[in-house]
Amino acid sequence: MKLYALDLNKEQWLELLERLKQPKFRADQLLQWIWQKRVFDVEGMTNLSITLREKLAEELDFSAPALVREQKSKDGTRKFLWQLRDGNTVESVLLKSGVRLTACISTQVGCPLGCTFCATGLSGFVRNLSSGEIAGQFLAMEALLGRDINNIVYMGMGEPMLNRDEVFKSVRMLNDEKLRNLGIRHITISTSGIVPGIEALAEEKLGVRLAVSLHAVDDELRSRLMPVNERFPLAELKEAIKNYQEKTGDRVSIEYTLFGGVNDSVEHARALVRFLKGIHVFINLIPFNSVDGRYDVPEAKDILKFKKVLDTAGFENELRQEQGSDIDAACGQLRRKDAEGSALALEPKAHSVTKKDSRRAVQRDEKPETAASKRRSGEKTAADRKVPRKKMLPEKERYRSGKMKEERPTYRDSAEAKTDDGRKESRKRIPSARPKAAPERKSAEKKTAGRAEIKKPFYEPELNRKKTKLKPSEKGRSKAGQAAKKTSAAKKRGVKK
Ligand code: SAH
Ligand code: SF4
Repeated sequence: MKLYALDLNKEQWLELLERLKQPKFRADQLLQWIWQKRVFDVEGMTNLSITLREKLAEELDFSAPALVREQKSKDGTRKFLWQLRDGNTVESVLLKSGVRLTACISTQVGCPLGCTFCATGLSGFVRNLSSGEIAGQFLAMEALLGRDINNIVYMGMGEPMLNRDEVFKSVRMLNDEKLRNLGIRHITISTSGIVPGIEALAEEKLGVRLAVSLHAVDDELRSRLMPVNERFPLAELKEAIKNYQEKTGDRVSIEYTLFGGVNDSVEHARALVRFLKGIHVFINLIPFNSVDGRYDVPEAKDILKFKKVLDTAGFENELRQEQGSDIDAACGQLRRKDAEGSALALEPKAHSVTKKDSRRAVQRDEKPETAASKRRSGEKTAADRKVPRKKMLPEKERYRSGKMKEERPTYRDSAEAKTDDGRKESRKRIPSARPKAAPERKSAEKKTAGRAEIKKPFYEPELNRKKTKLKPSEKGRSKAGQAAKKTSAAKKRGVKK
């Protein structure tokens, strides 16, 4: 397969051009065409000689991920299914909040971690994405829209910290002023709690925001929701979050998905408050977006009670408002549907950048830019590069003024929407996170559902790190968790309490 042009950073372009005996300034020209004018066909790079274009076309593939399907929500959320060079597909979601746009992008085809509530996890794992395929989703979205997108969240399909090198490289490329020049504080990486990944992020001082998907503060419950907790239990994860904060001075976002009757009681909220005491966090409460009826969506009254406990304890938090609930906006759902062959509203579209698109991009580039306009569009200003982060972002104030809220749109479901759909009456409370017996599992799902052990060899070294010693109380809990796991595995096969 040809080299993928989107995978090359500036140094790699310089090396390649040296080999082709080309002057260095060609690197800047090429990077500008790809990352700023979003031209994904060397033919359109008109300031390069025809001979050079031919040479480059022989060695490189300049394409961006190609649009296969698109779904549009009533609220403006858009979901894209992209085809990669090898035929695999991944999803991205575009979220709108006022004039601000946020792209939620994927880092893997599928995910090996098998969280029992997640459509991506239930579809199994295929492969890691390359840096260019990750950033390419963002550029392809911008090309389609014909405008800049302000923020990126690495919250699509896959676990970013299991594809760390490519994820970090994609961040650096998006942030590089010669490439996309997107402000580092406009980029968020979400992890299910891969401790070495959190440590590496702190070590590398990338400067992105970190989000951790917590969902439960009891090892037994969390392991049932997220089998990765077996490898990195809560005590270890908490330590990693604390150390991250100490090293970076950054507040960490905590993602807490609320499952009806599982982790959404006032007691659960109090336990969360105890767990997070002393750590500077912002908590995102996300009502579960139902995948296949295995878990219940939370009831509005429970969500509000849960939130009140956090408010009273002084924890900054936000209940994510509804976005995209009518288009299965939880990442992984569209690809899963597509694989199952269900009809979607829109016809497949091929993605190509027309001359008009590139003209528009050129015109955009010619506009004089002020620091304020750059900030609005998410591009780096001097502040992004030079001022220490802590001084630059008095985040508490920004939240109070409501500005940050705008930057944090969501594509998850709202409690109100789901509690109105008739399921409310029939819903029964279940005392633990035991997944409900799935009605009829599709074959792909059968393979991964209920997986408790993680055996993928490619990230074994990561997960087999020496674990920190557990305290006696935690040891007890972890043993209890294992026993419960066995019974729950048996129950999962059919019995619903
Ligand atoms: N693997 C990473 C990033 C991708 S998942 C992680 O787990 O953090 C992004 C977020 O979506 C996670 O917080 C995940 O728990 C949440 N999520 C996945 N499926 C969901 C669903 N059906 N409803 C609500 N949140 C979901
Ligand atoms: Fe993977 Fe994140 Fe889904 Fe878990 S929630 S299966 S880690 S994508």
